[in-house]
Amino acid sequence: MLPEAVAAMAGALAGHGNASSLHTSGRRARQAVEESRERVAASFGAGPSEVVFTTGGTEADNLAVKGLYWARRAADPRRRRVLATAVEHHAVLDPVDWLGEHEDAEVVRLPVDRLGRLRVEALHEALAEPETVALIAVMWANNEVGTIQPVADVVAAARRNGIPVHTDAVQAAGQLPIDFAASGVDCLAVSAHKIGGPLGVGALLVRRGLDLTPVLHGGGQEGGIRSGTLDTPAITAFGVAAEIATRTLPEVAPRIAALRDDLVDAVTDRVPDAVLRGDPDAAGRLPGNAHFTFPGCEGDSLLYLLDARGVECSTGSACQAGVPQPSHVLLAMAVPEQEARGALRFSLGRTSSAADVSALAEAIGPVVERARRAGLAAPAAS
Ligand code: PLP
Repeated sequence: MLPEAVAAMAGALAGHGNASSLHTSGRRARQAVEESRERVAASFGAGPSEVVFTTGGTEADNLAVKGLYWARRAADPRRRRVLATAVEHHAVLDPVDWLGEHEDAEVVRLPVDRLGRLRVEALHEALAEPETVALIAVMWANNEVGTIQPVADVVAAARRNGIPVHTDAVQAAGQLPIDFAASGVDCLAVSAHKIGGPLGVGALLVRRGLDLTPVLHGGGQEGGIRSGTLDTPAITAFGVAAEIATRTLPEVAPRIAALRDDLVDAVTDRVPDAVLRGDPDAAGRLPGNAHFTFPGCEGDSLLYLLDARGVECSTGSACQAGVPQPSHVLLAMAVPEQEARGALRFSLGRTSSAADVSALAEAIGPVVERARRAGLAAPAAS
């Protein structure tokens, strides 16, 4: 967390009531929440009334996917089809599949190319009968391989057909400028812990006037769209982090992109057969993302060996760590399963330094050697 966000949160933990209470402490909490709402809105190009606070990206994605589906179907039962790219985070894919299993949705996975980018022509084909489509989900940028998606093309196609678009911008926020209004999307998910804010808070930006059926029912907070007592300290810190992340982006993004390029050079220099996945062109990828597959290695082995040397990275989506399956993102990019097993994602942030890149450069060669030897020594799977 950014120190400023920690300070804001600590102050609010000690001093606030329930933002829905009418007494003095409650009104003070309400004021803090509304100030934070304005900060989050201004940071991402939305109006304050378009910000719905949630417990993070997962809840925001669930609210968008289920809320749009239910609202659209209630208005027209023919709208059964839910279109989502094959590389969405599980916070989008799983609610989409759940709608397929429990709510009579027809799920359409939109294919991506070898860089992990949506094939826009496949979207156009899937829109052959637009009156049957409930919503389209396309993430702003992929969390594993960092590929930036053609959100503007999706919005253009959706608009022509009157279909709402949800975008998961959890990974893009803090790394790319985000303008909700200019993007033309209808819903956009962000999460505080990706931008220097606390865990357990985020927001769904919801275009004014959009019909969205709530997932959580109760006290009617957040305009009735998301019931539950607001976490004033976390929301306060989220607002501070959003403001700082946005203000410092023009300086931070090029700096971490340059470090990332050094990291890619260092890794491919030490391990010449490592394969950079995602878009090799900096304009098409998140500045803080470098993703490789290492032939003949298990990603998990590499992760633990690097961790022992003080380098912390991920085999793919951190939210999936521990699940011993190749990433659905890499498989959708037509990476063979065996190669996908050797995946590692290195993420850089505002505190990353040249010393961090040097530490990885020193460690990666011996670590890959060792993981390869271990792989050779492992008994064949029966
Ligand atoms: N969407 C993307 C693209 C993510 O990377 C993540 C988390 O890593 C999420 C959604 C889930 O967000 P949260 O951890 O706030 O629930």
